[in-house]
Amino acid sequence: MDILDVLTDLENVVPFFQPIFSADEHRIIGYEILGRYHSPDSGVVSLGPFFLDSQIPEEYRLEVDNTVLIKALNKSLMLEKDMLLFINRDADILMLDDGEQFLEQILQFSKQGISPDRIVLEISARNYIGELEHLDHLLNYYRTYGIKIAFDKIGDDSSHLDRIGQLSPDILKVNLQVLRSTAAGAAYRDILYSLSLLARKIGATLLFENIETSFQLQFAWKNGGHYYQGYYLCPPEEEFSPRNILKEKLRGECHSFILSEKKKLEQLFSLTNDLQERIQDLLAKMKKQQSYAELLRSLSGGLEGIAFRMYICDEDGFQLSPNLFRNIREWELQSAYIEKNWSWRPYFLENIIRMRYGKKGILSDRYSDIETGEIIRTFSCPLADKDFLFVDLSSTYLYSREGML
Ligand code: CA
Repeated sequence: MDILDVLTDLENVVPFFQPIFSADEHRIIGYEILGRYHSPDSGVVSLGPFFLDSQIPEEYRLEVDNTVLIKALNKSLMLEKDMLLFINRDADILMLDDGEQFLEQILQFSKQGISPDRIVLEISARNYIGELEHLDHLLNYYRTYGIKIAFDKIGDDSSHLDRIGQLSPDILKVNLQVLRSTAAGAAYRDILYSLSLLARKIGATLLFENIETSFQLQFAWKNGGHYYQGYYLCPPEEEFSPRNILKEKLRGECHSFILSEKKKLEQLFSLTNDLQERIQDLLAKMKKQQSYAELLRSLSGGLEGIAFRMYICDEDGFQLSPNLFRNIREWELQSAYIEKNWSWRPYFLENIIRMRYGKKGILSDRYSDIETGEIIRTFSCPLADKDFLFVDLSSTYLYSREGML
C-alpha cells in the first residue's frame, strides 16, 4: 500500500466496526473503530500498519485518523444511545496539538447526540516520547467530560504496570492472542489472572480482545472479563450488527462454562473432604504425647504418594516442627525450618482464622513451590492445641485427580 495513494484518496478511507460483547447481557455494548482502505487493486486493507509506521509523518497519520473518526462518528449517530465507541489514538499523534482537535470533534458530535461518556479512548503510549505528565494531564482533563480511558494490548508486555498504576484507566483491554495455542504455559495464564485481580482492585473493567477460539472465550469468562472482542465472536465489518446477534450462542457457551467450572469446584471440594477424612483417621489412631516430629513420621506412612512435605505451625505462623520431606528414597527430617515464621505468606493468617472457625481443613489454590519448582497445592488443617498441620501435595498426585492442576 502506497502512502500517497491513501492520502490522495481519502474518500476510500473508511471506518470498520468490531463489535464488543458484554458478559452479563450477551449482547453488543459497543464497537471498536478501525481504519480500512478500499484499495483499487487489493480490496479492503487494514490501515493498522499505516498508523503504526513512525516513518510516515505524524501530520499525515493524523489526517487519516481524523477522516476515519469523523466518518465513524457520523455513521454512529444511528446507534442506540448507550452504545460505546472505542477509538484508538497514538499518544504522540494526539499530543501534536495538545489533544485539542480530538476533543473538539468529540464535543461537536456531542451536540448531535453522541454523549462523550460513550467514548472510550484507547490510548497507546508504548513508544511515546513526550512528557508522560502532560499526557496524563490531558487524559484526566478528557475524563472531566466523561470520556473513558482504556489501555489496549495488555499482556503483550508488562511495561504497562507502572502506567496502570499512574492513570487507573477505566478499561483494560487484555490481548488473549498468546493463549490461542494450548502450548501457552501456565505461567502466562497466571500473569493474565493477576491482571484480572489488578483490574478488580483499581475498579477497571476488563475487556479481553483477540478472542479467536472457544477456549479463549472460556478463559475470558473465568478470569473476570466483562467485555469480549475477537474474530471468534465477530470480525470488524463495515456495517453495524444487530445487538442480540450472538445472544443464543453466548448463552449456550456460558452454560457449558458454568457446568465445567461447577464440576471442577466439586472435584476440589471432594479432594478436600478426602484429605480431611484420611488425616483425621490417621491422627485418631496415633498415640498421645509424641513429639511433632514423631507425629509427622507416623502420618507419612498414610500419605505416601500424596504428600511430599509436612510441617506444623502455631497460629502465628511459627514453625514448631521440622519439615518432613520426601526425597527420592525416603522421608527425611529437616530441622533447619524449626522456628521460621510464615505469617508473611499470602493468605496465611486468613487461612488460619478460616480453619479455626470452620474447624476443618482447607486446600490452597495452585501455586509454584519455590524449592522444587513444581506446581502444587497445600492442604492445611487444625490440630488440637491451636496448632496447624500443613501438607504439601505432590504434583503427581494432583495430576491423578482430574482438574486439580
Ligand atoms: Ca485497539
